Amino acid sequence: MNRTKSGEAAAAAKPRECTMKIENMERIVVLGGGESGCGAAVLAKVKGLEVFLSDQGEIAPKYKAWLEQWKIEYEEGGHTAARILSADRVVKSPGIPEKAPMVKALRAQQTPIISEIEFAAPYCKARTICITGSNGKTTTTTLTYRMLKEAGMNVGLAGNIGESFALAVATAEYDWYVIELSSFQLDGCYDFRADIGVLMNVTPDHLDRYNYCLQNYVDSKFRILQNQGAAERFIYCADDPLTLENLPKHALPMQTLPFSVKQSAGCAAKLLEGGVLWAGIEETSVELPIEELRIKGKHNLYNAMAASLAALSAGVAPASIVRTLRTFEGVEHRLEPCGTVEGVEYINDSKATNVDSVWYALESMTRPVVWIAGGTDKGNDYSQLYELTDRHVKALVCMGVANEKLIAAFGERLPRVENTHSLEEAMATARACAEAGDVVLLSPACASFDLFKNYEDRGEQFKAWVASQGKEK
Ligand code: ADP
Repeated sequence: MNRTKSGEAAAAAKPRECTMKIENMERIVVLGGGESGCGAAVLAKVKGLEVFLSDQGEIAPKYKAWLEQWKIEYEEGGHTAARILSADRVVKSPGIPEKAPMVKALRAQQTPIISEIEFAAPYCKARTICITGSNGKTTTTTLTYRMLKEAGMNVGLAGNIGESFALAVATAEYDWYVIELSSFQLDGCYDFRADIGVLMNVTPDHLDRYNYCLQNYVDSKFRILQNQGAAERFIYCADDPLTLENLPKHALPMQTLPFSVKQSAGCAAKLLEGGVLWAGIEETSVELPIEELRIKGKHNLYNAMAASLAALSAGVAPASIVRTLRTFEGVEHRLEPCGTVEGVEYINDSKATNVDSVWYALESMTRPVVWIAGGTDKGNDYSQLYELTDRHVKALVCMGVANEKLIAAFGERLPRVENTHSLEEAMATARACAEAGDVVLLSPACASFDLFKNYEDRGEQFKAWVASQGKEK
């Protein structure tokens, strides 16, 4: 069976009639009017609950149109405290931090605050593959989704990627969902249970939202395995130190499926001699020489292993998994080759917003690198990159409003460090630093909000600059 409606069409469709009696009606307040909040509000409406959505800022026109079509009451530009504080349950959008005054007030009076995922899960009859981690979520989620889809399964893609889970649950019928989950979405999950949970890795990120306490962030990621029992599966990386350190703290009644590129004992996915990726569950297994993978780099071996184990768990035939692995080209803004100018290759890795993802980008480089980095620093420790920057980087072009931290970390270390404050300046400088045979790599290690709308905008501008120079084959 195919999806009944697209998200846009669904938003425009007529809501079902409410059949619940008013006096029994649960009052849901949704905080935040973006993809996740509006999806939750539509689901609440479809299920006949009383719902009010409140956003401290402006709601984008697309979402206002949804709210109006579904006749959902909402406010923007501020919160009406009395209305919010009288909710039975509050669905909080992942972008709203715990320190927001309204969240604090709700906590103080012990109103249950849940995530959109937790809210939607009881209404979902489909089975779920839920993927989290500090890095690799989008790539692995997209690859897993493709594996199920190309095998002909009735599968939806949701969560932190594209359409919200709640909107999909409200408007479509699938047999399977592949869901990308951020730590912020997991934070508001209590009863939610993944049929197949995947933890890619845990490395420091978003610590500003976790009281600068790494363990808080780790605990949040480990919510991916909460409520799992013998019937469920948990896929994790056996090479990831923080995962291994924290695993013994949890009861593991589910079937565990570790993957590794460094070891093989007890692993459900591993590298065989001669560079062959192998993933196996019970009687079925996938085998593919790694040079036949379209996506490159060690990090993508992890992503391919995790996705293969998830797809095998969902019953996809090995031959079909291999076909998808051979053709999947990766996701935009993640180590995306975007052209060669005067013999210099340009690679857009704008999504590399933390040090660990840059580590994997540099690790996969085989030619001298002119590295463009910088932006809004999230408490980065650049010393982890020294070994790789010493090996690969001939010049660092800092591109940000404040570049001091990068200059302090690399000024004495690299042959050339340039200070720039706009994309145009950075690109002209990078071009001047590079010679034929080099790579110009945009892999910023930082968020993009100082000079760009978001990482997509940063990547688009980088690609547009490359295109404007006239691409060579
Ligand atoms: P996420 O959704 O978790 O941010 P993405 O798949 O969007 O992950 O990739 C984000 C960045 O991390 C990109 O720069 C990408 O090259 C890098 N990356 C992808 N997979 C991994 C992985 N398994 N481990 C480390 N870095 C990765």
